Amino acid sequence: MIGLVAATANGRRRAAHLAEVWEDTRLYDGKPREALAAAWNKCDALVLFLATGAAVRLVAPLLEDKRRDPGVVCVDDAGRFAVALCGGHEGGANALAERVAETLGAAPVITTASDSLGMPALDSLGESLGFEVEEGSDLAAVGAALVSGEEVRLFSEQRWPVGPLPENVVPVRTPAVPEEPGGSSILITDRLFDVPPAKPAVVYRPPSLVAGVGCSRGASAGEILGLLDSALDEAGLSRKSIAALASIDVKSDEAGLLEAANAIDVPLRFYPAGELAAVEVPNPSLVVAGAVGTPSVAEAAVLASGAELVLEKRKSRNATVAIGRLPVRGRLALVGLGPGEDALIPPLAREALAASELVVGLGQYVERIRHLLRPGTRVHTLPLGDEVARAEKALAEARAGGSVALVSSGDVGVYAMGSPALELAREDIEVVVVPGVTAAQAAASLLGSPLGHDHCSVSLSDLLTPWEVIENRVRAAALGDFVVSLYNPRSKGRDWQLGKVREILLEHRPPDTPVGVVKNAYREEQEVVVVDLASLRPEDVDMLTVVVVGNSQTRLVAGRMVTPRGYLG
Ligand code: SAH
Repeated sequence: MIGLVAATANGRRRAAHLAEVWEDTRLYDGKPREALAAAWNKCDALVLFLATGAAVRLVAPLLEDKRRDPGVVCVDDAGRFAVALCGGHEGGANALAERVAETLGAAPVITTASDSLGMPALDSLGESLGFEVEEGSDLAAVGAALVSGEEVRLFSEQRWPVGPLPENVVPVRTPAVPEEPGGSSILITDRLFDVPPAKPAVVYRPPSLVAGVGCSRGASAGEILGLLDSALDEAGLSRKSIAALASIDVKSDEAGLLEAANAIDVPLRFYPAGELAAVEVPNPSLVVAGAVGTPSVAEAAVLASGAELVLEKRKSRNATVAIGRLPVRGRLALVGLGPGEDALIPPLAREALAASELVVGLGQYVERIRHLLRPGTRVHTLPLGDEVARAEKALAEARAGGSVALVSSGDVGVYAMGSPALELAREDIEVVVVPGVTAAQAAASLLGSPLGHDHCSVSLSDLLTPWEVIENRVRAAALGDFVVSLYNPRSKGRDWQLGKVREILLEHRPPDTPVGVVKNAYREEQEVVVVDLASLRPEDVDMLTVVVVGNSQTRLVAGRMVTPRGYLG
């Protein structure tokens, strides 16, 4: 819940506006001091329509702990600024300031160092991967070193897709921990320490372990967790790194097991006996085989999860536990950058780019979005024609635990890198596909509303598709009276195809059918022309053009190309 507190007429008006358009707000009326006191413990965050000075004086006596206090945003009387006053990260004030600014048309003011430098905040590093910050971590000291440009060593045996890190972060791939004081360090590890790492250090517990659990009917959660804890101790591993428990499907209603998973807040994965029986394990048991149809549950379930066994089966009276380490899954974001203009790059695409440590794409596209990349992001450009090489480069980095964006213009799934990348991708990586505005959509919006009824796209490039196939598709589209967007319509080496397509379409459509010719949509050199099908001149068209051919109903209304849906008869 977001509490809103105002003192002046302007403030009250703006607060009322937020209360009306947001669903998660509550207005606190009355004198600001009392309103604030009433809101403080009930709200996750507060928006104060007060000058910063007044806000600071009112908030100061209420502050207790930045991990629990609500985030506070304050908005000046003229509504020009939304200032994240305190609780920028944990309290959510930075994000709230952005949100308030957007709704009120104000400028967000965010002063936490990591955000203003475009750097990751240590308290949320790896959050989306499920990292937990170990208690006693020196977030403030290491954070200060990070933003001041001092060297910070990052100890991690495996590479994790945490996103771009500034150049002063130096990766050290070793299971060892820093013992000598001297510099700041960040550790990503599931291992417990014999000697605590030298300070200042921030320790993240990644969700890297899976515990296989077998148990008899009626085994208690306490017994299972006790055995798990002693197994983890013996292996020198942190309970915070347990990502899941795994077992056999006949135990899917075993109360103690469900309770144990619930108590440590991890999911349970169940495998059928047949699948577990097929896994070769170090310690098979004939007794278990007789009882449940597989010679191993705990060890086999670890291996069936795709993990590597790090601690063989340990037993208590009614339970068995084995522990495995899961391979890191890197991330590949497939991102469409839209037709040209920054404003047509959606927020999701911006987020995916900012979270990538490597961006792979055609040089001209990557150049266009360099300003959206965070410090430390590398770029890898390959020329036109190297599509498979581009996909393979991106996949190789993701497989190695990286976080990579593979970019295309328009939408990444439309005549672009999405398909080759996903033809080659396997289950060992996470993939996110971010939609973009296609050239056809962009052209259509500049023309009016030509795609208002059934429509299709045909690429005239016969480099990978035989011309007969393309011609058949154009004939089918003509026969179906589809509006057709022609991609890759004409290049130096392919100069006759568009003329042929016009001929085919003219067999089915009137010569005065409107045709939109849009070159460089939403780029500086944009050109938009509407002609009729009979007078379309292929020589006016090039590879930077998309040609939108109307159907038999498409017409010009006040100079705009419209394909009627039929509402107006
Ligand atoms: N993924 C892209 C398509 C890439 S194929 C998309 O979704 O739009 C390349 C073809 O797209 C070009 O030959 C041209 O026909 C078209 N195209 C891409 N951007 C364009 C733009 N800004 N204006 C006009 N046509 C464009």
